[in-house]
Amino acid sequence: MNHFENDEGRTLVTAMVEAIQANSVLLSDLDGVIGDGDHGINMNKGFTVTAERLTNAPWDLTTGLEVLSAVLLDEIGGAMGPLYGTFFGELARVSAHGPIDALAFGAMLRAGLDAVRDLGGAQVGDKTLVDTLAPACDAFDAAVAGGRGFAAALDDLARAAEQGKESTRELVAKVGRSSRLGERSRGLLDAGAVSCWLLLRALSQASQALLFESPHQQTRSEHAL
Ligand code: ADP
Ligand code: MG
Repeated sequence: MNHFENDEGRTLVTAMVEAIQANSVLLSDLDGVIGDGDHGINMNKGFTVTAERLTNAPWDLTTGLEVLSAVLLDEIGGAMGPLYGTFFGELARVSAHGPIDALAFGAMLRAGLDAVRDLGGAQVGDKTLVDTLAPACDAFDAAVAGGRGFAAALDDLARAAEQGKESTRELVAKVGRSSRLGERSRGLLDAGAVSCWLLLRALSQASQALLFESPHQQTRSEHAL
C-alpha cells in the first residue's frame, strides 16, 4: 500500500508554513474586504512561530502538528486560532506517530473537519473554511473508496478544495465576523476558505512528493495527472 513514514511527513508541516508565509498579504487583503484584515497576520504569526519552535530537536509529522496546534490555540487570536488549532490537534491525534497511508490521511482530515464543525457550528454554504474542507474530505474519501489510490485521491482533494474555495465567492456569510455584512459579503472570496485551500494544497503536494520519492511506490509517469 502507498504510504510515507511519519518522520518523512515533516515536509507536510514545512510546506504549510511556506504556503502561509507566501500568501499572508493576500489573506489579509481578502479578510480586509469583508472582515477585519487580520487573517493573514494571524496565520503568518502562528505558522512562523511554529517553524521557529521546531528547529531545536528532531520532529515527525505528529509532533509538528502538535506544536502547530498548541501555538494556534494558545498564542493566536481571532476565529482562526481556536478553529485551526483544534483542526491540527485532531490531525496530530489521529496521525499517532505511525506511517501515513490513504486511510490514515483520510481519517486525520475527517477528524479535523468534525472538530471544526463541532466547535464553530458552520456548515457548507455558510461562507467559511468549511466550504473548502468538507468537499475536499468527501472527494478524498470517495476517491479512496473507488480504488483510485493515495496519490490520485490527493489530486481529487486539491481539486475539490479549490472548487470549494471558489464557491464562497457567491455565498452570503452566515457565521463569523463577515456575517454582519449580510448581502454585502456576496461576490468576494472568504479568507478562511482561501487559507484552507492553500493548506490542503500544500498537504496534497507534499504528500505526493513523498509518495513519488519512495522507490517502492508508483512513479509520477505511471500516475496520470
Ligand atoms: P476573525 O473573524 O476573528 O477576524 P480570522 O480573520 O482569523 O478571524 O478568520 C476569519 C475566517 O475564519 C473566516 O474567513 C472564516 O472562514 C473562518 N470562520 C469564522 N467563523 C467560523 C466558524 N464558526 N466556523 C468555521 N470557520 C469560521
Ligand atoms: Mg479577521
